[in-house]
Amino acid sequence: MPTSRVVPKKRAFSAQGVEPSIKLSPRGVLRLQGRHPWVYRSDVVSTSGGANDGNASDVPSGAVVRVLDQRGKFLGTALYSSSSQIAIRMISHGSVPDLPALVAERIRAAIAYRTDKDNELVANTDAYRIVFSEADFLPGLIVDRYNDVLSLQILTQAMDTAPVRDAIVQTLQDELQPAGIVERVEARIRELEQLPPQASRLLWGDKSSTEVTMNGIRFHYDGLEGQKTGAFLDQRENYAAAAEYGHGEVLDAFCYQGGFALHLALARTPDSTARCSSVTGVDSSRPALEMAEKNAALNGRELEWIEANAFDLLREYAAAGRHYDTIVLDPPAFAKSKRDLEKALGGYKELNLRAMKMLRPGGILVTCSCSYHVSAADFLGVVADAARDAHKDLRIVESRGAAKDHPILLNVPETSYLQCLILSVSN
Ligand code: SAH
Repeated sequence: MPTSRVVPKKRAFSAQGVEPSIKLSPRGVLRLQGRHPWVYRSDVVSTSGGANDGNASDVPSGAVVRVLDQRGKFLGTALYSSSSQIAIRMISHGSVPDLPALVAERIRAAIAYRTDKDNELVANTDAYRIVFSEADFLPGLIVDRYNDVLSLQILTQAMDTAPVRDAIVQTLQDELQPAGIVERVEARIRELEQLPPQASRLLWGDKSSTEVTMNGIRFHYDGLEGQKTGAFLDQRENYAAAAEYGHGEVLDAFCYQGGFALHLALARTPDSTARCSSVTGVDSSRPALEMAEKNAALNGRELEWIEANAFDLLREYAAAGRHYDTIVLDPPAFAKSKRDLEKALGGYKELNLRAMKMLRPGGILVTCSCSYHVSAADFLGVVADAARDAHKDLRIVESRGAAKDHPILLNVPETSYLQCLILSVSN
């Protein structure tokens, strides 16, 4: 993580005049040496909230803490949570005299990383992730840009403090001149962090909905509706990849607001003929499908949208002997925790098996997993198992992950969660 270069304005001492500090066990120190920013509460051996009495409860929630080894050697600076099992998240290997200034600097760096002129990390879109928490050295902050509306999520106590919030909103205004900044709230996370409940709302400006264009395709965006921060921006590059290979009759299972479906419906061959003859999107969420229909209309298309449980529909269609040339599977995260892994793998296997049975020779399967607990190897294994059971040979055309604006930070496996395989069916 970059060491802070912020010039101290004033030192953020605790009420008692001493900066809170925290001592780590050797195992906690090892984690930091492994360049992972999180240390669990079980690896905190003592805390000093400023009164120097070693009482854990005297470190204020969301405090900036000096991190020490057991002998008192300074290791860096972290953000403290009084409630999470992740007690600290490192923010700098040096001192942090002014957290809001550091947050502002890191936001500017995150924007530059994506949009620097010489560094075309983000192209063909006005919707992309600007700040991805740990991967941008801003643990607990997510910011997505949807054209002129920004959507942010605050996930930790430290990011929720008033001076840090002010710095976030001000920096985003200065750097990107949005028409509105929306805050999306995940009630469960605020509860876990023991933060007061809050509704999703317009934080600044007067605009919470807009229109975005990804890869030349237009989408409505409503910052106060929908799932995630409103769309699945991590799939943006995978939409474009799918549109290079997809053809014929297409089924987009778990289509949400039509990201893959629309890219496929509008995909053209080099000589400008439509690649796909028909596209059907399936999702269990009616509001998502209503938005998908509006998105199709925005692009001058009318597609078939089916409100159904995709598991049931795939089972039924496979049993009825239906066939497709292209199937997209992008289900929600089945494994929310390690405990769910076996069940999740079973779910992926079933979906992939049914899809493979329905694909014609030469067909394309675009299959995704967004469960962090399902590794790339697990996912590949389960898709291979499905192929065996379906008696099919498939080749990997592309093995992909999240779009580049959702960077993976080496040594922080939590930043790598999305798998997207594009496979070609041989027989
Ligand atoms: N491919 C989409 C994102 C899919 S997210 C995109 O790129 O935008 C997963 C979707 O699965 C959500 O829209 C959710 O409503 C839907 N979903 C969840 N369980 C489902 C089920 N059993 N059957 C069909 N859809 C389901």
